[in-house]
Amino acid sequence: RCVAASASSSPATAAAATEVPGTMKAWAYDTYGDASVLKIDEAAAVPAVGEDQVLVKVVAAALNPVDAKRRAGKFQATDSPLPTVPGYDVAGVVVKVGGQVKGFKEGDEVYGMISEKPLEGPKQSGSLAEYTAVEEKLLARKPKSIDFAQAAGLPVAILTANEGLEKAGLCAGKSVLVLGGAGGVGSLAIQLAKQVYGASKVAATASTKKIELLKSLGTDVAIDYTKENFEDLPDKYDVVFDAVGQGEKAVKVVKEGGSVVVLTGAVTPPGFRFVVTSNGSTLEKLNPYLESGKVKPVVDPQGPFPFSKVVEAFSYLETGRATGKVVISPV
Ligand code: NDP
Repeated sequence: RCVAASASSSPATAAAATEVPGTMKAWAYDTYGDASVLKIDEAAAVPAVGEDQVLVKVVAAALNPVDAKRRAGKFQATDSPLPTVPGYDVAGVVVKVGGQVKGFKEGDEVYGMISEKPLEGPKQSGSLAEYTAVEEKLLARKPKSIDFAQAAGLPVAILTANEGLEKAGLCAGKSVLVLGGAGGVGSLAIQLAKQVYGASKVAATASTKKIELLKSLGTDVAIDYTKENFEDLPDKYDVVFDAVGQGEKAVKVVKEGGSVVVLTGAVTPPGFRFVVTSNGSTLEKLNPYLESGKVKPVVDPQGPFPFSKVVEAFSYLETGRATGKVVISPV
């Protein structure tokens, strides 16, 4: 944990900026498969920095189900070539800037989702490494009120929650049901629905032990799926946000004219699916809610996992039982 502490914007950080090494430690795989294909590379190349990019010294990273699905080879047709350094979520310190970069300078504390389109030619050199190169338009300033580990858990999840609620047309006074409210995306979808979109009623599902968490995030109606089937309850919603893959059931509880947005699994009309797009300005727009504490990052208490424990962290994420985000820190 000392690395995270020493990586704040201090003179030491600025000095380190001029001395970016040529190689770094990175987790990588050169064949698709389960978590065991991940190997630590002690001398991976530090990525080159494009004109519109900055080099980020990674302080914390986070895992997402998409990392595991990509590693399993599900997106081979549109993936970058192997070997892959996985990881979309990053929080860290800018140590180098490309010639066209206007918004960031060395020493800035940033966070973001490093590939604009996660499934279409994602970066070969991701965030599970000591350094990662990222377009400035994909990054935002890290809110001062949260630490690097908390910030690293946000980008993919909060951008997905925001884009899904926006595309579903959630607005003030409407009701929403979040399926999978205790996960990385769901825990933020609940909070954004309430704090940013002004939903009049937020319902969410989780298993028994996570019901209190749902309530603490602002859920008005917390449904324990081990005791009740949400689709058998009388309530109907303007928006259903499905972070589980229950599209077929989700459409049964939407009001006529309402929307059902699904992140994974089969889509039943009128449900629709989308894939998140990374965008630094959306993170900047949400920053005030993080600064004020109205929206809180949820970091899984099993972590943060140190960089040496990435395989264990993936195995945990892939149980599907994580609470909030599985974070890797310090890197
Ligand atoms: P997580 O791994 O964080 O989700 C884990 C959570 O899911 C756990 O807290 C678990 O709670 C909950 N869960 C599992 N089954 C159920 C169930 N039947 N009912 C209610 N809750 C359940 O995943 P993410 O939130 O990061 O992602 C969710 C899904 O969305 C993944 O499939 C992911 O790939 C996808 N996704 C798609 C994106 C897109 O752009 N389309 C972007 C981001 C994610 P409990 O232990 O209580 O069951």
